[in-house]
Amino acid sequence: MFDLIERPEIPDHLRQQRPDEAVLFFDADRLEATARRFRAGFPGLVTYAVKANPAPVVLDTLVRAGLRAFDVASPAEMAAVRAADPQAVLHYHNPVRSRGEVAQAAAHGITSASVDDPGELDKLAPLAGIEVSVRLALPVKGAAYDFGSKFGVGEAEAAELLRLVARAGFSPAITFHPGTQCEDAAAWEAYIHASARVARAAGVTLERLNVGGGFPSHRNGLSPDLEAIFSRIGRATRTAFGQAAPALVCEPGRAMVADAFAIAARVKAVRRDGTVFLNDGVYGGLSELREIGPTDRLRVLRDGAEVSGPLRPRVLLGPTCDSVDRLPGETPLPDTIAEGDYLLFSGMGAYSLATGTRFNGYGLGDPVAVRGL
Ligand SMILES: *Cc1c(COP(=O)(O)O)cnc(C)c1O
Repeated sequence: MFDLIERPEIPDHLRQQRPDEAVLFFDADRLEATARRFRAGFPGLVTYAVKANPAPVVLDTLVRAGLRAFDVASPAEMAAVRAADPQAVLHYHNPVRSRGEVAQAAAHGITSASVDDPGELDKLAPLAGIEVSVRLALPVKGAAYDFGSKFGVGEAEAAELLRLVARAGFSPAITFHPGTQCEDAAAWEAYIHASARVARAAGVTLERLNVGGGFPSHRNGLSPDLEAIFSRIGRATRTAFGQAAPALVCEPGRAMVADAFAIAARVKAVRRDGTVFLNDGVYGGLSELREIGPTDRLRVLRDGAEVSGPLRPRVLLGPTCDSVDRLPGETPLPDTIAEGDYLLFSGMGAYSLATGTRFNGYGLGDPVAVRGL
């Protein structure tokens, strides 16, 4: 539906509409281009981790860009993907599931599941014959924050579990997640070599190796070199496994969607002490900034034009009546910032709409289609 309407650029939209609620902007062309970049560059199957942004426009756009496989964590995510593409391949890589969820997964026809515990493997009995990936966790660094503390087992336990997976008649695989916004390809290399050791110790030939998500988005002035990470993943797999190299799968969330979205938050008030109140904050679209730190991709717009001038560090507060609703640190903004200006945060597609709330009546509405992001 988005190609049927005339999509404005963001400064024009803000100048004409003067929205008084925070706006989430979406550029479908940008998302399609990123999906193509992954499909062209990654040496294996590209799946999308739905949790990063489950908006129907995202799933529809990815299907249009040729994505056919999705990483889902719950029955609701399975249904969301099925609505976008009834034929899509579903990988259910949340390693802990209720028996009721397993039954729903079977009804949705999932083809892969991950485990990090023998008890979880027992629960998968109704899914006989599918692929089961053992979730490996290593103490490796390189990501903005670590996913290994909740899921995954070390090498020895992983080998034991992989043997059980093969013995139970599932197609054996290994999966891991190096941590989100991972800027160092060495993290994937360490995991790939560990996966080869686990497979050898178990005496099991892996059908596939799923290298997870964690691919970085644009941050701190750096555009990530995804292709360099892709080629190091391919090379490490050949080196570690040799002739018996498994087929590769990846499941990017953040890197797929982040740059296809921006959030415009309006200045509600500038206090005498210089503090700036916005109409979005940590309970809404800016929730992730608390975890991942302040963004450097921020512009100030007034009447459709960029406000420049000397910068001054400001404390930014969100709109709710809760003192936790405050962005981390201080953000340098033009000295002349004033009520009614818009702060445009770029790269906000991941973990914004997905995790934001409507606390106190604030938060993001449906995405607004634009071009030129
Ligand atoms: C969250 C998650 C992803 C996506 O992670 P990103 O860092 O957003 O790329 C992929 N796979 C699994 C199993 C996850 O839990």
